[in-house]
Amino acid sequence: MRANLLIKPGQIELREIETPSPGEGEVLVKVRAALTCGTDLKTFLRGHPKFPLPALFGHEFSGEIAQIGRNVKGFREGDPVMSAPSGPCGHCYYCVRGQENICASVMENYTLGAYAEYIKVPSHVVAQNMFEKPNKLSFQEAAVLEPLACVMHGLSMLKLREDDTVVVIGSGAIGLLHLLALQALGLKRVIILGRRPYRLEIARKLNAYRVIDFNAGQPQAREMILEATQGRGADVVVECTGTPSVWESAINIARRGGEVVLFGGCKPGTTVTFDTQRLHYDQITLRSPFHLTRNSVRQAYELLAEGKLLANSLITDTYPLDQLDEVFSLLQKGDCIKYAVIP
Ligand SMILES: [Zn+2]
Ligand SMILES: [Zn+2]
Repeated sequence: MRANLLIKPGQIELREIETPSPGEGEVLVKVRAALTCGTDLKTFLRGHPKFPLPALFGHEFSGEIAQIGRNVKGFREGDPVMSAPSGPCGHCYYCVRGQENICASVMENYTLGAYAEYIKVPSHVVAQNMFEKPNKLSFQEAAVLEPLACVMHGLSMLKLREDDTVVVIGSGAIGLLHLLALQALGLKRVIILGRRPYRLEIARKLNAYRVIDFNAGQPQAREMILEATQGRGADVVVECTGTPSVWESAINIARRGGEVVLFGGCKPGTTVTFDTQRLHYDQITLRSPFHLTRNSVRQAYELLAEGKLLANSLITDTYPLDQLDEVFSLLQKGDCIKYAVIP
């Protein structure tokens, strides 16, 4: 099969490699759509601590089952499927405490290699986090399952009310997925804060309550948020940029008793400082959700399957398998949300 390998940071090669064959409980999926993700871009630029190079990469995908291993229950060859790339072990210290998103082995046996003709899905993922794709859902929309599941995991930590004002900092794929997910949960007051005109325009089209251009400066953005909340500040702030200085400023736009979700992971070795008075006397709660759970994957699946979340609006364009390097240079320019790679 043809598969894109990341040889070293910045170098992608489309190679002919042996098509994997599914073992016990595993399935081989013929990829019909693979989506780019912020994690892929980070991996492309600087490698990944968990995945030594050269390596297959890409983890947001959907497709059709091409071949099935022994003892696979609930799926047949030819089924259209969508899947998260990982699944919990179910018995480690964290899993038994309901924290399966940080399962000790969640990054082992991870489903990688979506930028290829075929991808092998491990047995624990097939058994827990793979679903049949409804016909009315396109393959590229179905491939949004993983990032949406991460968003749903973060939101599950909050006590949201429909009349809450939520400020999402960041207008990339994860910021806009928060907008769509919050709207699907019935919240109308979702404010998007971002910098890139292309993305801010999409936030407007998606009916964000307010769209604030962060280029105007932090004090002005804060003023606009206070003005939109009768001077209180946001009930919830979701940080989606993964920048330490933005993590720090996020607490300044939350209301007393509000919650700040630190969704965007920062570079290793970075640190942040918070105003202790603000955190304590204004009782600001910090949340730092990582990854996904079976529950959040199920919720994401239902939102997509029921057509409650129009994921297509986040897909800027589609490209064939042999133009992946072009896709990554476009991603670096940033006038885009997500690209779909169609083998
Ligand atoms: Zn992803
Ligand atoms: Zn576990």
